[in-house]
Amino acid sequence: MSANLLKQSEEIPVRQSVSERYVLKDLRDVMSKEMPLQDRLDQITNLVAQHLNVDVCSCYILRPGDMLELFATKGLDPKSVHETFLRVGEGLIGEIALQKKPLSFEKAWEHASFVYKPETKEKAFKSLMGVPIIHRETLLGVLAVQKTVEYQFPTEMVELLETIAMVMAEMLASSTIKTLEKKFVTAHKHSRIEGVRLIEGLSVGKAVIHKRMDSVGIILARDKRREIKKLETALKSVEGEINTMLTNPNLTDEQSAIFETYLMFTQDKGWISKITKAIEGGLTAEAAVQKVEDEITARMKMMTDPYIKERIHDFKDLANRLICHLNGCSTHKKAGQIPKNSIIVAKSMGPAELLDYDVSRVKGLVLEEGSQTMHVIIVARSLNIPVISGIENACQIVNPSDMLIVDATRGELYINPSDDILDDFETRLKQHKRLQAKYNQQKTLPAETKDGVQISLNINAGLSADLLNTKDLLFDGVGLYRTELPFMASEQFPDVQRQTLIYRRALIEAKGRPVVFRTLDIGSDKVLPYFENKGEQNPAMGWRSIRITLDRRAILRAQLRAFIRATAGRELRLMFPMIADLQEFLDAKKTLDIELEREKEKGGVLPTKILVGTMLEVPSLLFQLPELLKYVDFISIGTNDLAQFLFATDRGNPIIWNRYDCLSPVFLKTLKYIHDRCSEVGVPCSVCGEMASRSLEVMALVGLGFTRLSMNPAALGSVKAVVRSMDQKQVHSFIMEQLSTPIRSIRPLLRSYALDHDIFI
Ligand code: PEP
Ligand code: MG
Repeated sequence: MSANLLKQSEEIPVRQSVSERYVLKDLRDVMSKEMPLQDRLDQITNLVAQHLNVDVCSCYILRPGDMLELFATKGLDPKSVHETFLRVGEGLIGEIALQKKPLSFEKAWEHASFVYKPETKEKAFKSLMGVPIIHRETLLGVLAVQKTVEYQFPTEMVELLETIAMVMAEMLASSTIKTLEKKFVTAHKHSRIEGVRLIEGLSVGKAVIHKRMDSVGIILARDKRREIKKLETALKSVEGEINTMLTNPNLTDEQSAIFETYLMFTQDKGWISKITKAIEGGLTAEAAVQKVEDEITARMKMMTDPYIKERIHDFKDLANRLICHLNGCSTHKKAGQIPKNSIIVAKSMGPAELLDYDVSRVKGLVLEEGSQTMHVIIVARSLNIPVISGIENACQIVNPSDMLIVDATRGELYINPSDDILDDFETRLKQHKRLQAKYNQQKTLPAETKDGVQISLNINAGLSADLLNTKDLLFDGVGLYRTELPFMASEQFPDVQRQTLIYRRALIEAKGRPVVFRTLDIGSDKVLPYFENKGEQNPAMGWRSIRITLDRRAILRAQLRAFIRATAGRELRLMFPMIADLQEFLDAKKTLDIELEREKEKGGVLPTKILVGTMLEVPSLLFQLPELLKYVDFISIGTNDLAQFLFATDRGNPIIWNRYDCLSPVFLKTLKYIHDRCSEVGVPCSVCGEMASRSLEVMALVGLGFTRLSMNPAALGSVKAVVRSMDQKQVHSFIMEQLSTPIRSIRPLLRSYALDHDIFI
């Protein structure tokens, strides 16, 4: 692959204009000379204004208290330098800082967010474009240009300013300017911080702060061909390094699968061509890798869907390795020796970074960012390492060698715990070990309640990697395959052929187990960067999911065609998301019929059996349920959205998301109603929302009568333990007694019941 890289890149037309070349050349000159930071900033703003033919170029730097200080300008009143301050979020400059992305305003002066700072005398300037100055995800400032006329800044100009901002970011990050020093938060002597439990477990040990690897040195390249050659060599070395890791006989199947995915990344044409283009734009290979990494990170971070965010950590790890090789490390910098019981504290990390440590010494992992399906989590799970995430500023709060307790059963981190807490911890550790042993013993036993009710345990998946990593888990099928995830990971809509391959791969990896494909559920927080974004005020209730695919029928048709082709000669199970009334379902199903007919006419092989169902996530469907059930082959309850809409509570809003409990009589009665209507007419009904992954909720669901659950794969062990330790009829009677009581949630009662009856919650 990499042997062709130079050839490929030579075919890419050189996009650099004369002004670009000059500005980069001059920038290089400024950077090569010794001079105070202020002088350098002054010179940069001057040369940008001159070469970009703009009337103003200003550099704002982030100061303590989230204030942006005007540090250098060509064009604004020089007296306003160090005198003008804008809060992050204030004015157009503040907006660029807040959004951390380039923004361009043709009529800046008329914009609602425009804030006039009289001392700058900027009244005369009508248009503005600015880019954030970001170093390793940290905002350092804003670089902006202005013109006296209304002006639409061309994309090439935005990109050029981004390149210049990147040079400035490196310069500012390595400068001694006081404002840019890391803000250290001193930990209290004993502190307890709540986080998110990712892999349950308990551990105690010494903190090791994980450091990201090498930083990019030189940003601007002199010789494009040389940089491309360097990239080729580095890619080969990284591939070699991963191949060596793959030969490690101690790797589990899960870990091997992850490294295989890494290898795929190193051969990803889209990624490599982006890096190559950045080199074409004047960057060194390492700066180009960093730029692309930053871009991908920023794009992914815009999406609130956890799945897609998680993939970014793998890219980061890989990009870091590549930078390390480009900087001349012959092998990846090995993490130094760590003490025997170490707890690694990191902002985020890729799986290989974790494996760089002597994992036999790693007893826990604390992440600032991370969630269930990150690859590092999958590796940690296979190594039995408890993980908690969501600990803001963990790398600053925790000091190296602090004593830490990771309580990933409750989602708590203790820093330098007191003796009492340590004693309590010891007791809980013993209990926890008993619980783990129990899960393992039950692995091959059936998911059956004490009174003989069989429960079908399925998993939720979305990328084939998810399935690859379930090799030694026992489950009955994939109850929810979220097809939007491959769409989100693409640069453009995957065509029918590409989609067919993706779905076929999922079927192969499911090894004959049924897979329920869900049609595209985009919109709301799952944004496709290449698809129209209407900027709605309330996207969760807006143009999303089936509403989009019914309105843009070609998207739905292409996807249905791919499902049909992927399942040719086998069974096809599919469902539609966000259906709010029967007609929508019938309309969508009619489209499937058209596609089936079309495929038949073309002589294609059809699926042997087709089951079409719907997600039940919109409350309006509850009132059409008897009619709906005449047409569907199955129902899958999306409790995440159903609860959000039933209680009018945004599921992604941390202020209110847990205001109402899904174990409230209201919600349980709703679920029971659905269950009962379905069983009256023999339509299978499963639950695929997060509820089906949580022990106490599972006890309630099984108690209500649900026998099909689809969950996060990590929950299979604990869910089976709940199922096997409960008596369905008894729990049913208990729940029924509570449903008519005027309480907000039966959670405490259910918990006491579970404890009294030895149910494994
Ligand atoms: C749900 O809403 O419960 C569901 C499973 O769908 P998603 O989480 O993908 O919206
Ligand atoms: Mg949903």
